[in-house]
Amino acid sequence: MRFHTQVGQDMADHQSIAEDELNSLRKRIAQYEAWFRAIDANSNFDFWFKNSDSEYTYVNPHFAANMGRDVCDLKGVQPKDIFEPDRLERVVTLDEQVMRDGYLKRVIPCNSSGRMQMHEEHRFAVTDNEGEPIGLGCFAFEVTEKSLAEETLHQAEKIADLCSWRWSAGSNLLVSCSEQMADFLGVSITDAFQIFPNRAEKLVLPEDRHVFGIVEDRKQGLSTEGYVIEYRMRRADGQLIHVREIAEPFSSSETTTEFLGVMQDITREKRVEAALRTANETLEAKVQKRTAQFQLAKEKAEAASKVKSQFLATMSHELRTPMNGVLGMAQVLQKTNLDDEQKGFLETIYNSGSALVAILNDILDFSKIEAGLIQLDPKPFSLGKAVHEVVSLLSTTASEKGLALELNIHPSVPDNLIGDIGRIRQILMNLVGNAIKFTNKGHIAVDLSAVIERDIVKLEIRVQDTGIGIRDEKLGLIFDEFTQAEQSTTREFGGTGLGLAITRNIVNAIPNGRISVESELDKGTTFTVNLDLEIAQSNDNVIKNSALKDKTVLIVTSNESRALILRCNLQDWGVKPIVASAAKNALALLQNTKLQGDDIELVISDFDLGQHTGLDLARAIGKSKAMSDTKMILLSSGEHIDDACQNRHLRVFETDLPLTNIEQLKSLVRESLHPRNELNGSAETLSTKRNLAAS
Ligand code: ADP
Repeated sequence: MRFHTQVGQDMADHQSIAEDELNSLRKRIAQYEAWFRAIDANSNFDFWFKNSDSEYTYVNPHFAANMGRDVCDLKGVQPKDIFEPDRLERVVTLDEQVMRDGYLKRVIPCNSSGRMQMHEEHRFAVTDNEGEPIGLGCFAFEVTEKSLAEETLHQAEKIADLCSWRWSAGSNLLVSCSEQMADFLGVSITDAFQIFPNRAEKLVLPEDRHVFGIVEDRKQGLSTEGYVIEYRMRRADGQLIHVREIAEPFSSSETTTEFLGVMQDITREKRVEAALRTANETLEAKVQKRTAQFQLAKEKAEAASKVKSQFLATMSHELRTPMNGVLGMAQVLQKTNLDDEQKGFLETIYNSGSALVAILNDILDFSKIEAGLIQLDPKPFSLGKAVHEVVSLLSTTASEKGLALELNIHPSVPDNLIGDIGRIRQILMNLVGNAIKFTNKGHIAVDLSAVIERDIVKLEIRVQDTGIGIRDEKLGLIFDEFTQAEQSTTREFGGTGLGLAITRNIVNAIPNGRISVESELDKGTTFTVNLDLEIAQSNDNVIKNSALKDKTVLIVTSNESRALILRCNLQDWGVKPIVASAAKNALALLQNTKLQGDDIELVISDFDLGQHTGLDLARAIGKSKAMSDTKMILLSSGEHIDDACQNRHLRVFETDLPLTNIEQLKSLVRESLHPRNELNGSAETLSTKRNLAAS
């Protein structure tokens, strides 16, 4: 009984243990069921299990819904019951692979209710306690956005030839990197994790390794700034590439510094840079060669232009000298007894000669200006007188054409100014001459106005005509040398196209000088000249027409026609002329007359006298105490007069003049015989180089 009882007791004990275990198991099962229910209710991913016969043993509602079925419809179902043959084949192969390998991850495109999605799938084998496979399970979730972002990043990195990485400096480990890293280093992605942290020692060319110094600084916390370095690196496949590395350190924890960066393949960029550098160097060398050639050509052209200017100057000078003889003799001839017909012939000779000399003057003047040989000679002068002279000289031509020539000088314009009278006359002659030339009816007005600022006169000269006018497109060109507005007018009016070029050059040489033109075709033209001139201190700069009578003047020239011209003119002015043909004779004459108590106050001498020049004569006179009062006008054609002679009472008068300028020689003679210091008491050195050729 006891046995029975014991057995019964044991059985009861066993029963109670089994009961406990069962309860515990029930509890655990209930818990698993609760978990699965929770997964069923909340999972937004697919989850299923299959047994070794590939029957679905568990599917979650998310998966069932994706398959378009109910959960209970799928339990115990085999793939062959739900998949088309081709898909079935893939599913079977996949299941076999998972059973064999134990795990498989893949990202696959899925059609979810007509929308293409990317799914990340994790398949795994399910084993029993002994590790024997008893089925497989899978969970899969949508990664469309993530996978798109990854794809975009991957493509972008590919396009930009770069890869990104995150590196932990403390452990010297590559934390993560983009797939491109493998291509970049020319190794597998697994090897990339080994190689990248040691690239500076392993792949980078030894001569470029120093650039990593900057990384060391940051690793040691010496700087927190980002960096950009460039180096050359030999990839694992031996290919040499140029790399630009851009990175920034950041603290991932209190003690750890990590770097986030990119490496960019800039090999192409470097190649282009090198090609550009070479192209640049080649281009620079070419430019230098060309510049040298241009410089040489420019120097040659300048030299040729100088030769041309000199040739022009020499030619026109050479041509003018005999022309002066012709005109001078014509003038002398005018004073002889001639019948009317002869007078007419003579007038034609004189007029044609004068026209030729005017052209030669223009050419000579222009070539001198071009060669930089002409300098201004500012002196006190009477503006009113200068303007009147020009206007009265040209008024005959104007009245012959039936044109009224008006001169209006505003009362604000001071008369006594300092300037190069010859050049100012020349400006007026050119402008008024052109106005008359290009006007067939109407009038020409010359207006002078001024604004005075301290002792500077801002003079404005306006020459206005009612002539043919100038086309707009030609207005900018007429100041260029040898340029005429209309070729047809050249035939009608003549001219060289030099007058305005000369005028502009002169105006520009005067302080604040400006010349401008306004014109309307068939209505008329207005030229405006603005000049700054100084006001002269004294009014006595205009030499009075004092008598030259009974003064004796010695003419020294070996040129007979010049001697004749000068003698006739001097006689006309009431002066007593004596002629010597050489310096030696002149000196003897001067000494003799001194001895006889007579006084030769003025010597007019040619520069070129053969053996001894006019300058030698000037020096000899200068040395003689007895002749210290004797003044001298040296008829020069531009020869250099040295400074030693400038302290003598020596005046230089250019000889290659048309005889219209004999008037100026007359005023020079008058001025020499009655120097201004005698008239106004102020001291004046008569060493002024006077250039009247242009007048
Ligand atoms: P030239 O008178 O010897 O031809 P200029 O240099 O003095 O040379 O003048 C250049 C050109 O400008 C003239 O040929 C003419 O076409 C034009 N021109 C100058 N002044 C006038 C004017 N007052 N009216 C119309 N045209 C003018």
